[in-house]
Amino acid sequence: MSPPPSAPSLERYAAAKLDALSARTLRRRIAETHRMAGHRTVRDGRDLISFSCNDYLGLSHHPEVCRAAADAIETYGAGAGASRLITGSHPLYAELEARLAAIKGTEAACVFGSGYLANVGIIPSLAGEDDLIVMDELAHACMHAGARLSGAALATFRHNDPEDCRRLLAERRAGCRHCVVLTEGVFSMDGDLAPLPALSDLAAEFDAWLMTDDAHGLGVVGGGRGSAAHWGDRAQVPLHMGTLSKAVGAYGGYLCASAAVIDLMRNRARSLIYSTALPPAVVASAIAALDLITNGGVPVEAPVAKARLFTSLMGRPPAESPIVPFVLGEAEAALGASRSLEDAGFLVGAIRPPTVPEGTSRLRFAFSAAHEDADIERLAAHLGPIASAA
Ligand SMILES: *Cc1c(COP(=O)(O)O)cnc(C)c1O
Repeated sequence: MSPPPSAPSLERYAAAKLDALSARTLRRRIAETHRMAGHRTVRDGRDLISFSCNDYLGLSHHPEVCRAAADAIETYGAGAGASRLITGSHPLYAELEARLAAIKGTEAACVFGSGYLANVGIIPSLAGEDDLIVMDELAHACMHAGARLSGAALATFRHNDPEDCRRLLAERRAGCRHCVVLTEGVFSMDGDLAPLPALSDLAAEFDAWLMTDDAHGLGVVGGGRGSAAHWGDRAQVPLHMGTLSKAVGAYGGYLCASAAVIDLMRNRARSLIYSTALPPAVVASAIAALDLITNGGVPVEAPVAKARLFTSLMGRPPAESPIVPFVLGEAEAALGASRSLEDAGFLVGAIRPPTVPEGTSRLRFAFSAAHEDADIERLAAHLGPIASAA
């Protein structure tokens, strides 16, 4: 399988990298997947019940959302044609940004191409060489990417540990000009909530700017408004970042903040300025989905309730979000468990390094409003032997 020594260096390089991944059970493959409405999924010709989608409310297939997308194509065409600062800012953008600002209770909002693009644009617009970024150690890869791009000094605190965050701020804050504190509102691979009240108190005490990545909060916690709303007045969050690709069922990223901060993004965030605007259909879908989230058109409490049914069946502490991890340790163990669930008709992804730290490979269950209680009961029954073997 390895290319001969005479092969071009590029081919030898790629093959050696892939071989090293294979040797550690970390090589990945992209599996073609046909997601139907609800939780039904067809992969390799097999019908599976998916517990691996972030489409917590089924909005990606909701008839009103799909209709809005089709109408937008009719009216505005399939693509945006340019970046937002040139001619790509079609009229649907202002509507979407007004809804996001209203949901998060901020003066303004700015929509980016994706959540990833949002973080790599926002963070370097807020922090630079003389500044400090203090970040939860489990924060998403795109926050790490944004932090590195910014050129600011970076320090990570132990997961969800405000005391460790305080220690870093006490040691390092005084030597830096500005400081940004970054965390996820709902952790994407662990499903736990960040202690936003404690982090917001620390931000106030040390004059730091707190930003939450609420990718997995919007639509499913805080009455659908996300993790800051969950904590209410106890958490002051000036920077709400998130994505439209999870519970909202569409695509795109956003920042909700004061009017001045949002205007700064429009002037400084390079991933906004130098990248083409989102297709009109995508923006229209997000608007329709947010309307359903805020007007009671979808059961925003259901995904967490389904996750709690699962945790209670498994004898685990109650889920805080629709995400429940099952840490198995080695990559091999997680892959084996995922395969055995697939044989029983369940699609549950194995999550391995570098997505999660070494030695914490896991199954990650994502619950949706569409799951039947009976599906969850069958899942728990199949998982029992795997759990006791772990
Ligand atoms: C998915 C995710 C992102 C990236 O959002 P995309 O819109 O998919 O690029 C960012 N942060 C977290 C925590 C995520 O889970």
